Amino acid sequence: MVNAGYVGRFAPSPTGRLHMGSMLSAVASWCDARHAGGTWYVRMEDLDPPREVAGAAGDILETLEAFGLQWDGPVMYQSKRHEAYAEALAQLLEQGRAYGCACTRKLLEGAAVYPGYCRSGLGAGQVPRSYRHAMASETYGWDDAVQGNQAFDAKDLGDFVIKRADGHWAYQLAVVVDDVAQGINAVVRGADLLDSTPRQIALRHALAPDAPAVSWSHLPILVNADGQKLSKQTLAAPVEADEAPAILVTCLSLLGQPCAREEGVLDMAKSGDVTGILAVAARGWELGRVPAAPIHWQGSGQGPGKKRPSDD
Ligand code: GLU
Repeated sequence: MVNAGYVGRFAPSPTGRLHMGSMLSAVASWCDARHAGGTWYVRMEDLDPPREVAGAAGDILETLEAFGLQWDGPVMYQSKRHEAYAEALAQLLEQGRAYGCACTRKLLEGAAVYPGYCRSGLGAGQVPRSYRHAMASETYGWDDAVQGNQAFDAKDLGDFVIKRADGHWAYQLAVVVDDVAQGINAVVRGADLLDSTPRQIALRHALAPDAPAVSWSHLPILVNADGQKLSKQTLAAPVEADEAPAILVTCLSLLGQPCAREEGVLDMAKSGDVTGILAVAARGWELGRVPAAPIHWQGSGQGPGKKRPSDD
């Protein structure tokens, strides 16, 4: 089915090289966009300098190219988008959907959800440290193409930070401003971001109520033997460009795509034909086959690894 109106993206944070978990998002979002005949953007989410690693952004782009994951248009860099975020904050403040918060980390210690201390205004002499989005008391739900029906109650989420006390823009604000600016209407990413989605839906309602609806798909996360999510913190091994063909086939297998077992595809992996593998993958891509449950991943990024559902 061709849906030229489809606009998707891959939005890595340059906090290190791509690992198998991030590769899964890149491959799935690329296949979903190409299967639809749509657009696939890459957006570099470089708005958190304290966590960034020098050279990581360039390395990520080179890795995507080595894997044959070609993007459309120029790469958007969040580090160049401060004005757009400032405008969004001003709009939310004017709408009464954002407020300055003077609470310190120490004051909020132990609170899972922000208790709303600054919601009705700051006391005399207090100055805002951060800014928060004032959530409407609603339930935010969507039908996730991989994880099924989701519903989050605003009171379990609380008013979240949109501009941090250290002066940096928060991911939640930037991602919504940019998804709207780029006309994104399909988000395919890891399920570790599942509870970010209701916050992003809420911000979207406030900032751009007329923006196109988004179809959300949250991929299974990869976990190590201890059940921890594969991440830079758990020292996930980076994917190596010279293993791209085998890694692509592994990704497709983890994503439940039957083409990962096709002889023709395995031959292409042997001959190093990443473009050929991706063409077959995009043609036969079925989001409905992607498993929902976390996947135990013992591999280093190379070879098939070991796959089993989390609850066995
Ligand atoms: N930059 C985020 C990350 O690397 C992903 C953002 C998104 O896909 O919405 O975790």
